[in-house]
Amino acid sequence: MWRGNPTFRRVHYNQISINTQPLRIFSFKAPEGLEKKDEPKPKRYNYLSTEEMRVILLKGTEWPGTGALLDNKSPGTYICRQCNSPLYKSSQKFESGCGWPAFDDQIAQNVLRLRDEDGRRVEIVCANCEGHLGHVFEGERFTEKNTRHCVNSISMSFVGEGEDMPEVIKVDKK
Ligand SMILES: [Zn+2]
Repeated sequence: MWRGNPTFRRVHYNQISINTQPLRIFSFKAPEGLEKKDEPKPKRYNYLSTEEMRVILLKGTEWPGTGALLDNKSPGTYICRQCNSPLYKSSQKFESGCGWPAFDDQIAQNVLRLRDEDGRRVEIVCANCEGHLGHVFEGERFTEKNTRHCVNSISMSFVGEGEDMPEVIKVDKK
């Protein structure tokens, strides 16, 4: 028959577990010279949903008339969904009636023109990340600039006037 004092045993056990655990965690110190330095993390583009990947990476097209930015008339900047590069100003947007957001000009050299695989159209991609934006058409006389950037809404994000612009993500392509 056991005659020990159960209270003492419990307290004793608790003392050990409480006293030893913090010691193990906090007493460790890396030897000098082995501390982790603040290494720059490899930059990655913004996370894309499956539908965003289909359009932006696989050069797909969103269903006309459905884009979230199609009817957006707020002042601000349209940026690349994948890398945040500023692509279009709200002042360049116009109503084309085609079912996708339309712009008659772009910001600086941030939109790149490529010959589309179909051999007829001119594809437009983000100059920084090469994400697919849509196509550009000329000579339709929608506006004085006679140019229509027909852009998938899903390829862009919108930053309202006065809001902070997110940092453009530049990924080292090797
Ligand atoms: Zn981009």
